[in-house]
Amino acid sequence: MNKKINDILSYFDKLVPYAKCELNYFDDFSLLIAIILSAQTTDKKVNLVTKQLFLNHEDVYKLNNISLEDLIKIIHPLGLANNKAKNIKKLCKILIDDYDGQVPKDFNKLTSLPGVGIKTANVFLSEYYHIPAIAVDTHVKRIATRLNLASESDTPLKVEQKLEKLIDKQFWIKTHHQMIFFGRYHCHAINPKCSDCQIKKYCNYYK
Ligand code: SF4
Repeated sequence: MNKKINDILSYFDKLVPYAKCELNYFDDFSLLIAIILSAQTTDKKVNLVTKQLFLNHEDVYKLNNISLEDLIKIIHPLGLANNKAKNIKKLCKILIDDYDGQVPKDFNKLTSLPGVGIKTANVFLSEYYHIPAIAVDTHVKRIATRLNLASESDTPLKVEQKLEKLIDKQFWIKTHHQMIFFGRYHCHAINPKCSDCQIKKYCNYYK
């Protein structure tokens, strides 16, 4: 890795050493559902909703039995409730019909499921199976762009490819979490904490 990447990763190690997934889950299915629900909302809100949701619908068979209307009602605080609920209902049926109720471990099979895109599959595989990946969400994209590791016009897939080329594979999972924590708690979209930032010399936004 080059000096710039080394400096950035060392700073993350100092600033956000314990960065990790903040979604609560108890198995692969509950993790996948939590990740799907986390689109365009916060992990804290998802945790409140899944606590209620999984109280009586903790596995694929029980969640498959909930009515669409009841599911929408429960997940409504997270936004995009209609779409998320429809996808979850379809997903449960496919898992039961085609996968014997199990969540597949395979990237291509995962991304063929309703509501599961590249980011969701990467987060799932890296979190549950520790398969190296850098899932690109809004924080990762913003940090990568600001630090000139990717371009504003890059798709999330392109950002992922650029980061995975720049960073040693052994650090992908840790760096993914650290970029999210850095974006969530320091380098905010609005009013980032630039005065304290020790990597500002690499930052487009600061300049
Ligand atoms: S200088 Fe500011 S905008 Fe740039 S990386 Fe640091 S906190 Fe983020």
